[in-house]
Amino acid sequence: MKPQVEIYDTTLRDGSQGEGINFSVADKLRIAEKLDAFGVHYIEGGWPGSNPKDIEFYAQARRRKFKNARLAAFGSTRKKGVPVESDDQVRLLIEAETPVVTIFGKTSMLHVKEVLRCTPDENLAMIGDTVRFLKDHDKFVIYDAEHCFDGYKLDPEYALATWQAAEKAGADFIVLCDTNGGCLPDEIAAITKVAVSKLNCQVGIHTHDDIGLGVANALASLEAGAVHVQGTINGYGERTGNCNLTSVIPCIAFKLKKSCVPAKSLPKLKELSQFVDEIANMRHSPRQPWVGSSAFAHKGGAHVNAVQKLTTSYEHIDPALVGNRRTVLISDLAGRSNIVIKAQELGFKITNDTPELKAILNRVKELENQGYEYEAAEGSLALLIGKSLKRREPPFLVETYHVSMRRDSRESVCEATVRIRVGKKVHHEVAEGDGPVNALDGALRAALAKSFPRLKKVTLTDYKVRILDSGTGTAAKTRVLIQSSDGQHEWGTVGVNENIIEASLQALVDSMEYALLKK
Ligand SMILES: [Zn+2]
Repeated sequence: MKPQVEIYDTTLRDGSQGEGINFSVADKLRIAEKLDAFGVHYIEGGWPGSNPKDIEFYAQARRRKFKNARLAAFGSTRKKGVPVESDDQVRLLIEAETPVVTIFGKTSMLHVKEVLRCTPDENLAMIGDTVRFLKDHDKFVIYDAEHCFDGYKLDPEYALATWQAAEKAGADFIVLCDTNGGCLPDEIAAITKVAVSKLNCQVGIHTHDDIGLGVANALASLEAGAVHVQGTINGYGERTGNCNLTSVIPCIAFKLKKSCVPAKSLPKLKELSQFVDEIANMRHSPRQPWVGSSAFAHKGGAHVNAVQKLTTSYEHIDPALVGNRRTVLISDLAGRSNIVIKAQELGFKITNDTPELKAILNRVKELENQGYEYEAAEGSLALLIGKSLKRREPPFLVETYHVSMRRDSRESVCEATVRIRVGKKVHHEVAEGDGPVNALDGALRAALAKSFPRLKKVTLTDYKVRILDSGTGTAAKTRVLIQSSDGQHEWGTVGVNENIIEASLQALVDSMEYALLKK
């Protein structure tokens, strides 16, 4: 069944123009596969006329089978004064061998006169010739009307003439683009209505987020009659980015209540968002709507209490519908409910009536006063709760450690020795590192690996240091936050001390202990 709204992903083309985003051909292929499995309808892989990497992508992609998505090659209308069949950039679009070709052309009289510097009629001919040529080569043609809304506001008659030129030549879709991203939702809706009423072919929308309205503008256009939306995963794109598909998809499904991607894919949305960030080597933003780790995080005691009674009291939707989950932040504001929910989340069987609850709560508050912070250190919190419930002995103890540093004319090297006790056994190891924490980490790991070989796959993925204000007259304290991973899960641990090495060791020890605890 045809969905009510088609999703056109341009993460690999418009998205890759974002600052800090650089996809290899292999990255693009992995993302394309993932998008296809998720069920988007079109994947725009790149602009073959703009770089050899994109030509290579299409050469590889054509050997693969896509189950749900149709691959699109992106390019522009022919150059002025050049017959379409002799235009190299257009030839490369045919050679990409994709079922779909998307070309952009000028809508705005300002751009025709000042940027293209050709006559209004020549621009109309460039649009018509290119669309016709692609149709003659059996392509499904999507025409992206660049500067569509700004152009319409400037000269509505000419804007309409450009869309009609594409339609007359056989375009399958006219996509209205807010290229500069500066329009408001009511303008977008009004101009979409004009396009829908004047055109016979289907209408789509392509927006940018320059004034924070990329998603809102796309939704306004869809409500005004557009049936196809273009955007990028996590909103990657030039400047402030494109319409964010990870927001617009659930808005279409759950707020507009229209069909788009397969319903069974929606709970995989968060995973898709994290996957693409991972490939792009970007940290997943906790504040992303719908899919961020903070999207359903509750901090205030009263909110937490209410959410426990009735989840809809402070949540617009069930987080599981997009593969997210409710989290409760532990902080100074922590009430009983926070600890109970967080403890349950970490796998402890605890209720409001558990006798140790008060002691745990007091301990968390006391440590927070000393500078600990558990919002990103669930590993340390789980250990604290476990110890308070007296469920078990620590699996190992660090008996002694030593860190030293030497520098010769060429380089500086740190060396650490660590002695640990596991039951009756004692392990003693030495390691070198670029810095003291690196050396300490190496020595601790080497010692632990003797008794716990599975810790070998645990890696330290991030290390943050914060100097805490010493308002109380004592020496300044250092808080160290460590992020670790076993390849499947990530967790954080924390250490606080006047001495940065000591604080780091606490966080490292917690990380290893937590890895052993969670199995
Ligand atoms: Zn764009």
